[in-house]
Amino acid sequence: MSEIRNVVIIGSGCSGHTAALYTARANLSPLVIEGHEPGGQLSLTTLVENFPGFPEGILGPQLIENMRKQAERFGAEYRMAHLTSADLSQRPFVLHLGKHQVHTQSLIIASGASARWLGLPHEQQLIGHGVSSCATCDGFFFSGKEIVVIGGGDSAMEEALFLTRFATKVTLIHRRDSFRASKIMLKRAQEHPKIQFLTDTVVEDVHDVEKKEVTALKLRNLKTGKVWDFPTSAMFLGIGHEPNAKMFEGQLDMDQDGYLKTHNYVHTRVHGVFACGDVQDRRYRQAITAAGTGCMAAIEVEKFLEEHGK
Ligand code: NAP
Repeated sequence: MSEIRNVVIIGSGCSGHTAALYTARANLSPLVIEGHEPGGQLSLTTLVENFPGFPEGILGPQLIENMRKQAERFGAEYRMAHLTSADLSQRPFVLHLGKHQVHTQSLIIASGASARWLGLPHEQQLIGHGVSSCATCDGFFFSGKEIVVIGGGDSAMEEALFLTRFATKVTLIHRRDSFRASKIMLKRAQEHPKIQFLTDTVVEDVHDVEKKEVTALKLRNLKTGKVWDFPTSAMFLGIGHEPNAKMFEGQLDMDQDGYLKTHNYVHTRVHGVFACGDVQDRRYRQAITAAGTGCMAAIEVEKFLEEHGK
């Protein structure tokens, strides 16, 4: 069984919902494929205080639910499915959703990026309660507290430096004693009076699920084998993100880390295929910028369909 659509949107995070809202209001009856992580990264955060329009802040899951309702009000259709593969070699493009196929005249890829997690026994249960992958989103909640950052790349340095605005002390924990981070970022972090480094050390677990807050990390030194509990109020992960674009390998241009390359903001190299949000943005990665590029992609789809016929 297959169907033909004007526009299909892959992903239901901030950029996908915004693209859905705009294309729905343009009477294009968008179909949104929700994907593996419906709601995207916002659904994993708690209070969002940096999305304009909410002076008291808004819970991430509530914000994303509001966006969806707004798009549905104008006729966007949501489907719980994920894209297994796509054929972008000719129009209409063919999307494989498991056994089901959808043909579409245009495509918006808003499949986002997933933060890498450590895979600790109690990590997932404490996300939003002291475990976070976004210092910009959650740092403020740990004002006056001691914080840990994990990683040895530029993201970890950037997060550690940013978190010094709030924390009394930031401990950067890295599994090796050499760093991927650029020299300048590393030097800035090393010279900061509030940042201390703990190298050759891995996290084995995070406490305390019963209290629903982070109280300490169980650490192991890889050189000495020493295992100990390290008290802290929060663990921020800076170990990278994985863009969700593997299903387009060989058909769309990507950078060395798998992020989709776009020109003129949201155009991919295939006419009629647009990309927005974190799957093509490794620099800003904010809800508001994802919403912005989602809007741009929708406007480009409108123009494209006008020029090429629905
Ligand atoms: P990255 O460079 O890949 O670094 C990831 C870090 O996390 C590495 O130190 C890695 O350790 C560690 N790591 C990965 N998996 C781990 C695990 N399971 N347990 C413990 N540690 C783990 O990622 P990134 O820092 O996000 O940077 C990605 C790219 O964006 C880079 O090109 C970076 O330069 C760029 N970026 C630039 C800026 C800036 O210029 N302001 C800011 C952020 C990012 P190992 O080193 O041992 O592998």
